[in-house]
Amino acid sequence: MHHRLKWLIFVGLVLCVCSGCGEGENTASVTRDFESGSIGEVRQVSPNEWALSLADDNGNPELSDRWRAWWYVRMDDIDPDRLAVIHLKNRGWSCYYTPVYSYDQKTWHRFSEEEVSQPGDFELTMKKKFASSTVWMARFYPYTYSDLTAYIGKIKNNPHVDIETPATTQNKKPIYLLTLSDFDVDDSGKKRVWMHARTHPAETGPSFVLEGLIDFLLSGTREADAVLSQFIFHIVPMQNIDGVMAGNYRTTPLNENLEVMWYSDPGNPLPLTSDAPVEVTALHHIVEAFMSQEPAISIALNLHASNSDPDVRPFFFPHFGTVADGYTVSEASLWKKQIRFINSMGGQYGVNMLEPVPAEGGRSFATKMYPESWWWKNFKDSVMAITMETTYGRAGYGPDWITPDDLRCLGESLALGLRDYADPSIHFEKSALMFKGPVQKYEPSHDSFYPPADPGEMKEQR
Ligand SMILES: [Zn+2]
Repeated sequence: MHHRLKWLIFVGLVLCVCSGCGEGENTASVTRDFESGSIGEVRQVSPNEWALSLADDNGNPELSDRWRAWWYVRMDDIDPDRLAVIHLKNRGWSCYYTPVYSYDQKTWHRFSEEEVSQPGDFELTMKKKFASSTVWMARFYPYTYSDLTAYIGKIKNNPHVDIETPATTQNKKPIYLLTLSDFDVDDSGKKRVWMHARTHPAETGPSFVLEGLIDFLLSGTREADAVLSQFIFHIVPMQNIDGVMAGNYRTTPLNENLEVMWYSDPGNPLPLTSDAPVEVTALHHIVEAFMSQEPAISIALNLHASNSDPDVRPFFFPHFGTVADGYTVSEASLWKKQIRFINSMGGQYGVNMLEPVPAEGGRSFATKMYPESWWWKNFKDSVMAITMETTYGRAGYGPDWITPDDLRCLGESLALGLRDYADPSIHFEKSALMFKGPVQKYEPSHDSFYPPADPGEMKEQR
């Protein structure tokens, strides 16, 4: 068909579809009607040129602009014979990045830096000749609930993993709890480790980290088996499943930011109050039970991903500081454990592959409602509870951009870093306080985003 005629028919179709529709509706050629799909307003500005605006979680304009980051679309009717131009507008973050695309939703590719320009702080423009008329595109490598269940299907028969679904989400999706250990070795003398991820649904990096960690632990190598004989790992790989399925960035379908909802009463902080959402009470129920067992949990990792300038590497949120800086003995003890853990990660992943930590971490978290707040209120320095943040950009791999396999590599380093952390005979020469290196070429173009915002400063909006 002649291009011009095809275009006229197409415009007619789009106008027809869009007449009477409100903001956030899709044209015929751009859809988000699949798991984790998300986009706001879609406008076709000319043949093979589109303007896409990001959506708020659940279409809720009351949420912070910073909560507008995830997008994931399927585009049809792309003409592979000509340059496609896609303008991405309405972003809540001004950091430059290269999105990902796929022709089959399985194999994903990064746009090159040459293909992505940033005409304005909150806009990106992609220009590319695609190899197919149907293309999926996303902020970062998607990782859906279906991806998780498929992965669990692959590992479920391994004798070193136990899979349970102890709770369900608000929408009745099973929340997985994976337990990895050498079950033939007596638990006494083992370290019990807790990890959870995907509290913020679009933070997919930690899902690849967990795959790398689990693949390593189940690899059957002598090194992995030794770790399994010394540890019990309890992993909730996806807390906010409903948010993941809805294509949200940060919240549940009820606009809840689960990260700040470990609600407890200051006078009795062990139980959660009745206004904590089920996805939080589910995790709380599990960890509380483990805390009355031998061994109790001594390490608790909260896995996230942070929007940032492209060269920011993975980082951590250690709390408190040294006695010399005015912290109590138990506060300084937690700080020291956290620094030791970050040192052990540097020893495995590379001291040039992680951000240096600040000179002190402060106290603000202690009275708030994060998971780490709950751990501190109840168990002080006996549980080394810390948030780890992956990043989406070059992330230490410059000039390349981080891939799922790089993140899996970080997961293997996490398993070995935990092993080293728990081995008192290991002393780390490099302190996380001084991590720096030739890989880092970070020059913040947006100072306000660096250091990446402490979750304590994120607006608490429900
Ligand atoms: Zn997060």
